[in-house]
Amino acid sequence: MSKKSFKAESQRLMDLMIHSIYTNREIFLRELISNASDAIDKVYYQTLTDENRTFNKDDFYIRLTPNKEARTLTIEDTGIGMTAEELENNLGTIAKSGSFEFKNDQELEDEHNIIGQFGVGFYASFMVAKEVTVESKTWNPDEPAAMWHSDGTDGYTISDCGRTNPGTKITLTLRDNTDEENYDEFLDPHVLRALVSRYSNYIRYPIVMLCEKSRMKEGTEEHPEYETYYEDDTLNSMVPIWRKNKNELSDEDYDNFYHERRFGFDKPLKHIHLNAEGLLSYRAILYIPSQPPFDYYTNDYKRGLALYSNGVMIMDNCEDLLPSYYNFVKGVVDSEDLSLNISREILQQDRQLRTIRHKIDERITRELTQMRDNDRETYEKFFAAFGRQLKISTYDNYGANKDKLQDFLLFHSATEDKLVTLKEYVEKMPESQKYIYYATGASVEQIDSLPQVGIIKNKAFDMLYLTDAFDEFVLKTIGAYSDKEFRSVSGDDLGLDDDAETKSEDEQKEENAFFEKLADLLGSEVTRVKASNLLGDEDAVYLSSEGQISVDMEKLYAAMPQGGNIKAQKVLEINKNHPVYAKLEALYKDGDEKALADYTNLLYQQARLIAGLPVENPTSFARSISALMTK
Ligand code: ADP
Repeated sequence: MSKKSFKAESQRLMDLMIHSIYTNREIFLRELISNASDAIDKVYYQTLTDENRTFNKDDFYIRLTPNKEARTLTIEDTGIGMTAEELENNLGTIAKSGSFEFKNDQELEDEHNIIGQFGVGFYASFMVAKEVTVESKTWNPDEPAAMWHSDGTDGYTISDCGRTNPGTKITLTLRDNTDEENYDEFLDPHVLRALVSRYSNYIRYPIVMLCEKSRMKEGTEEHPEYETYYEDDTLNSMVPIWRKNKNELSDEDYDNFYHERRFGFDKPLKHIHLNAEGLLSYRAILYIPSQPPFDYYTNDYKRGLALYSNGVMIMDNCEDLLPSYYNFVKGVVDSEDLSLNISREILQQDRQLRTIRHKIDERITRELTQMRDNDRETYEKFFAAFGRQLKISTYDNYGANKDKLQDFLLFHSATEDKLVTLKEYVEKMPESQKYIYYATGASVEQIDSLPQVGIIKNKAFDMLYLTDAFDEFVLKTIGAYSDKEFRSVSGDDLGLDDDAETKSEDEQKEENAFFEKLADLLGSEVTRVKASNLLGDEDAVYLSSEGQISVDMEKLYAAMPQGGNIKAQKVLEINKNHPVYAKLEALYKDGDEKALADYTNLLYQQARLIAGLPVENPTSFARSISALMTK
């Protein structure tokens, strides 16, 4: 029997578990019970839909057996079981998709973060066990039983075993007690009972444990004598939480159910309990999580709600119950009116399901609206976690859902120095302000240093700071909010009245010729050169753009595999009040072609730097600067 090694990332997580100072060790039980319940779900559904199989309701249970002498705790289920190959695939590695890798050791140390990021599930057993044995057999009589064993530190073995009943038995050999930790508590029936009722109360199958009881011996009524006997107790309530009344349930009950179902390891921001009766009856419990799961923005993320028909799970993740823009919502829906035998294809067209989906959509919208208007602090937490999803959804499908979603978006306001909605921005606009201004950049600080930002600030207009690369696309999709168009402060027309000087026709002609000359010198780099008298005294130039593609969008496209050729139509704006302007004009009038070409290029490269674009030829740029410094 050869020993196999864990996949690298699994080994690291295992080390983490073993050396964990994680205070919540007790959750290992919830994890194993939830796995057991999932495994039974998989068989139970078959029993209801497969006429060739007959099962008894009593066939399905989860059994806990503490053994004080051997210091073992076993968790046994009558679920679907695993073949040797499945044991290998399911328990030999954590990140099944392989998409997950620890980024660095810092992250590893942040164990809360890790445990919170993804379902450690089965591996949580190593927080309390020094050895774990899994014996399993599937319901296929021809498939031999198999055993997985590991002491966590150096890999695992897989071998045959003599198990005859279908299902899975997990035996944990508890770690030795230390001064700080007493692992024996997990052998105490009272502790186990309390843990089940706390974390696994709503599991649908009985969680049983043989319990010691005492009764009066028969015929000793006059002089009572007692004897002990053993009997199975069911430790969980088994009534699904959504069948209970809201007023029977505390926030903690809802949170525990969230964890029991492994919707996430965070504390959810909000729960919604729906109970609809009438033409279509259904109950639902929905959660808005506080943190996106680690795989949220990947294809591996499983979206949708768990769907039950009268208490029997039909589907783990029914996508058709949730509009895609609310795909962060977790929860369960149970309807008596759905047929059990409904297939996935039919489900998609099911009218009842569509109605439920519509109601859920409305309810979430209402919840988010209330949160935004009455509890901004929580809403900001929500937005930090899922704002990006809302923005992407606003943009998706050519903005099909923008009317619904645009009011949920928050942007950083320059004058308020906090996040505001578009509505709040527009309400504060002075009458003289025609547009909703925004500026793009990597951070609020970086945007603040842009020359063109000063122009808007001088006018005492507010500006939205877009720090997510995606934001500008979102605003372009929205187009206009309450009839006000968006204007980038990097656009060539800010819609401001610059105090244009009065010029004669000749003067104007001459100026135009001068700018055309400068534009010629820059070739295809810019579409135009123009004067600006809105810039601050110290700022000589900046790069604006005309047309649909901004400079920041050009940067984003450049980073995409096929976007390299999409360029902004750039406009070089020169500050008329800056001495550099007079200098250029003089060179132009003197006909000093060489110097004019050099200076124009230097100005243009500076403008690129300010806009966050690379200098085109850094060596020659640096040489020119050095030459100027020593002139
Ligand atoms: P998760 O449950 O999040 O997928 P786990 O590491 O807890 O991650 O389990 C990995 C897989 O092992 C499960 O998806 C399931 O296929 C299988 N598994 C775990 N426990 C059991 C069990 N008691 N019975 C059958 N299969 C199980």
